[in-house]
Amino acid sequence: MGSDCLFCRIVAGEIPATVVRETETTLAFRDIDPKAPVHVLVIPKEHYADIATLAQGDPALAADVLATSAAVAEDEGLLGDGFRLMFNTGAYGGQEVFHVHAHLLGGAPLGPMLARDLG
Ligand code: AMP
Repeated sequence: MGSDCLFCRIVAGEIPATVVRETETTLAFRDIDPKAPVHVLVIPKEHYADIATLAQGDPALAADVLATSAAVAEDEGLLGDGFRLMFNTGAYGGQEVFHVHAHLLGGAPLGPMLARDLG
């Protein structure tokens, strides 16, 4: 993908980020506009647009993203009280950056999963 993709540019070191963990295949960095005391984004270094494309195209790499997310959760002290891991996907999911990323959120009670009741 490369120069058109914000997160590919972070992987390439062209845009700064506060990296908290890096593996051969994944990168974890702090969200620039945190929605919780801990808000880390976990991405595969290779470009996939969203979690569906990644999970279908390279399940092992999807597992790497989950493993890195769990390791960061442990590093950030979230395993005891819990955390939320979510993948916004597509228009209805509210995805804004089309390089798949897990949002790892924690450090305080996060409230209901959705802001409003759709029922
Ligand atoms: P989403 O709406 O799921 O696509 O989430 C995109 C996330 O990327 C948002 O939470 C943004 O705050 C975050 N974001 C955008 N630009 C940057 C950046 N340069 N560094 C870190 N996080 C970013």
